[in-house]
Amino acid sequence: MINQYLLKEVISHFDFVGSLLKCEPYGSGHINDTYLLEYKIPHMGVVPIILQRMNTNVFKKPVELMENIMNVTSFLREKITENGGDPERETLTVILNKAGKPYYKDSEGNYWRAYHFITCATGYDEVKCDEDFYQSALAFGKFQSLLADYPAEKLHETIPDFHNTKARFAVFKDAVEKDVCHRAKDVQAEIQFVLEHVDLAHVLGDMQASGELPLRVTHNDTKLNNVLIDDKTHQGICVIDLDTVMPGLAINDFGDSIRFGASTGAEDEKDLSKIECDMHLFEVYTKGFIKGCDGRLTDEEIKALPLGAKVMTLECGMRFLTDYLQGDTYFKTKYPTHNLDRCRTQFKLVSDMEKKWDTMNEIVSKYNI
Ligand code: ATP
Ligand code: MG
Ligand code: MG
Repeated sequence: MINQYLLKEVISHFDFVGSLLKCEPYGSGHINDTYLLEYKIPHMGVVPIILQRMNTNVFKKPVELMENIMNVTSFLREKITENGGDPERETLTVILNKAGKPYYKDSEGNYWRAYHFITCATGYDEVKCDEDFYQSALAFGKFQSLLADYPAEKLHETIPDFHNTKARFAVFKDAVEKDVCHRAKDVQAEIQFVLEHVDLAHVLGDMQASGELPLRVTHNDTKLNNVLIDDKTHQGICVIDLDTVMPGLAINDFGDSIRFGASTGAEDEKDLSKIECDMHLFEVYTKGFIKGCDGRLTDEEIKALPLGAKVMTLECGMRFLTDYLQGDTYFKTKYPTHNLDRCRTQFKLVSDMEKKWDTMNEIVSKYNI
């Protein structure tokens, strides 16, 4: 818990106008500490503000991270304005501190940032209906189309090699060889599964190197609750949580959404008969994403969307298995085989996608017009 003195110190370094009515923890984010501040301004009403303590354990370079966010949101603001949209609601607006910086480093070394609060919109934690999933696909697709002209290579890699599946495969192999917890003997089938799919660890890197897939600005955390949905119109209006914005492949953003959004069960479901890649949800997301991209993806990228889903799912399963072999040092676990259960759901999904491969490709070509 952050102490009140520290919060006071932080707030005093911003030029927030009015009298502070409220300052309390907000939302269900897992990475940063998010606060909602409310200021009363005479004759104007109440102005809400989001204040976040950034997680510097996860993001080691907060200054570079904020540089990415400033650059991407400035670019988005211009594009949204050109298209006749409302940049105040359709992208994040960073509030500079009194020194003109997009962050404040407090006396204990924490990094803080502030955003305009986007009112009358909600980030939903769970997919309750197809329409929400469709709206998030549309919003993440639109994010791609608005940023299609942004020079992605100029962004900092906030987490190096985040989706470098080849590098993650090398870490996996090393974990198997070192076998520090003597767990490898119990997970031979899972290890074998990865080894049989080694091609998938290389394919996207190769396609990028050959120029078949272009480098894009990617979001890298395309969860439903990272899109704010307008309370009145129910349209996805704003992509938030830009910490992981980095150079990457559009099909990886798509693939990760499918990995968790089109699965019929929880990530740690023990009963694998409950785990499938739902083709209806796959279609809902594909339709929204391609529409949102508005013709800015290449034909090769669109055709590679199912591959993005398969590779992201394999990569994620491989990361769970690696962590299991290394003694559960990265992902938080609730019981000893938690990472193994998670790895199994991901591999079940990969196998299921392989079974449904023709259907997935047919769905993509149906919307590739
Ligand atoms: P995650 O676990 O998704 O990584 P996080 O800890 O990085 O989350 P955010 O997603 O940035 O945190 O913010 C947490 C929540 O605060 C969001 O889900 C959203 O509900 C709310 N929120 C963040 N920024 C804004 C904003 N500018 N306007 C309104 N609500 C916001
Ligand atoms: Mg979030
Ligand atoms: Mg986040």
